[in-house]
Amino acid sequence: MVDSGQQAYMRLAIQQAHQGQTPFGCLIIHNDQVIAQAFNTVSSSHDPTAHGEINTIRLVCQKLQSHKLPNTVLFTTGKPCPMCMSAILYAQIPQVIYGVSIATIAQFMPQITITSEEVA
Ligand SMILES: [Zn+2]
Repeated sequence: MVDSGQQAYMRLAIQQAHQGQTPFGCLIIHNDQVIAQAFNTVSSSHDPTAHGEINTIRLVCQKLQSHKLPNTVLFTTGKPCPMCMSAILYAQIPQVIYGVSIATIAQFMPQITITSEEVA
């Protein structure tokens, strides 16, 4: 069940995606506030690891000066890929709320079809 607060956060993640001109935007909540938001910059930064989730996790880790983010919630427009899910686990982010499934994303672009559940 998604509440209105979660819907608002997902709208912000979608706005991030639009800024990056990809379907992928992300934000992280800490102490009930958005602490960082980012979008996919793979093409513009020539970095295959620059997914929205990775970019957002990097921002939050710098802000909090920690590589562990146990008191956060990550919102992302698409279900995390195996790389991002691994980073989420390493960062100890306890909750992820996503928009569309990898199967849906795979209808529009190639995806690695290892699920977040398989990674976790
Ligand atoms: Zn990813």
